[in-house]
Amino acid sequence: MSDLKLCQGSKCHTYTTKDRLKGTKGNKTYQTRRRSQMYYGSGNFCSLNCYNDWAETFIDRAVDHFGRTTEPKHLTEENAWVKDYDWRGNADESHRHFFFNTITKERRPITEEQYNDNNYELNT
Ligand SMILES: [Zn+2]
Repeated sequence: MSDLKLCQGSKCHTYTTKDRLKGTKGNKTYQTRRRSQMYYGSGNFCSLNCYNDWAETFIDRAVDHFGRTTEPKHLTEENAWVKDYDWRGNADESHRHFFFNTITKERRPITEEQYNDNNYELNT
């Protein structure tokens, strides 16, 4: 029982679903959901509704707290490389893997091993 987490939604207890209604007769209340696992907002919310309620209430303060973006960020040519491949349906031919620069549109071929290696980086 103690492994259950409470939904962090600010209005979770106001949604009058059957599973939230707890207590004995004459002493019933709608309560914040408890779950062993929740799937929204990094496991903090029981539903997208609760996630959105929280965001509506706290998002401005959260953004200010962690640092509001005040200048546009730049993805530069050096950082614009992504891995991609051309699909080859023919069994005789393997897919063509490459690094692709989303700004310059340059392609640099790589092997499938390099494509699958998350640590492989292009020497630009
Ligand atoms: Zn909830």
